[in-house]
Amino acid sequence: MVELSGVQVRSTLGASLFLSACKLRLIARGERSRKLRALPNNDDKRMGKSSKDKRDIYYRKAKEEGWRARSAFKLLQIDEEFGILGEAKRVVDLCAAPGSWSQVLSRKLYLPAKAAGEKELPLIVAIDLQPMAPIDGVLQIQGDITSARTAEMVIKHFDGKKADLVVCDGAPDVTGLHDMDEFVQAQLILAALTIVTHVLRPGGNFVAKIFRGKDISLLYTQLKIFFPVVTCAKPKSSRNSSIEAFVVCEGYLPPEGFDHKDLYRLLERASSQSGGLDCASSWLEGPSKLIVPFLACGDLRGFDADQSYPLQTSGAGSEKESAYKSLAPVQPPIAPPYRTAMELGKKLQKTL
Ligand code: SAM
Repeated sequence: MVELSGVQVRSTLGASLFLSACKLRLIARGERSRKLRALPNNDDKRMGKSSKDKRDIYYRKAKEEGWRARSAFKLLQIDEEFGILGEAKRVVDLCAAPGSWSQVLSRKLYLPAKAAGEKELPLIVAIDLQPMAPIDGVLQIQGDITSARTAEMVIKHFDGKKADLVVCDGAPDVTGLHDMDEFVQAQLILAALTIVTHVLRPGGNFVAKIFRGKDISLLYTQLKIFFPVVTCAKPKSSRNSSIEAFVVCEGYLPPEGFDHKDLYRLLERASSQSGGLDCASSWLEGPSKLIVPFLACGDLRGFDADQSYPLQTSGAGSEKESAYKSLAPVQPPIAPPYRTAMELGKKLQKTL
């Protein structure tokens, strides 16, 4: 009896026929993979990039306009609608890598002020777990926004002065388990809110990425403790198919006599009718439900993130797309976590 990947083959004739068929299949598969491997690497990569350029207009436009990530358009579209950048002089960019939001802040606030020879240049502080390549006028801190030490460093950089705006595009590594991802995302926003309560000036604004899941009312209620105006904004560059949206919180106004030590007590109280430790938000439904306005940012003139757009080339007919040259990313990540994963994988393979 021969056992082959869990399949038991009884007769010897049957076994040899079966094994020959397997061998042929393996040879054929080997040929095919060799053929695939034989494709010049660059062609392979270019085909992948061109197809992404076609499917994702904002990815393509980001490279054309020199943004490190397509997310730049999300902040630009939110600003078009809410004017949050305005005349901001001090801004904190939380979870900033690879840095396209910091680029927007630099291009819209720092560079014009520098060109105009202003004495007091805007101060932009960016924080991320990942290192970031430098950006003009952006002070970078590598750290975890959920750690008190990082929060202290941000506060120190402002040297007693308060920020006009805090933005947070943070996202944990998603697991695909929506409830879990939504919960971790909300925790990241609460960490951002802790920093906000220390650095934002009264009247200042806060923008943060959210996942619009079933318990989002709880987060809205918590944010409303500190901001009289909270709007859920969906920029056109954010795919309709994604539960991602942004809370735009305007006019920071902490409760009277607010003490930082009370922050978590206040947030917990918002999560429970009884004031106890109950993290469910179901009681916030029905008549207690807080309705936060939903605003789609951008109009019909803008590009639709869910639509494919033809690639523009100077060629004609079928040559048109093959003549298309995909641009390289503006700034590849300098220490991506997948590199560590690949190195660990290689080490593991050697030990096996
Ligand atoms: N706004 C960025 C841009 O425009 O380039 C993109 C941000 S990316 C979607 C999310 C970032 O959140 C990642 O770079 C990740 O490292 C960061 N992040 C996640 N959890 C974090 C944490 N606890 N502290 C600091 N950064 C965090």
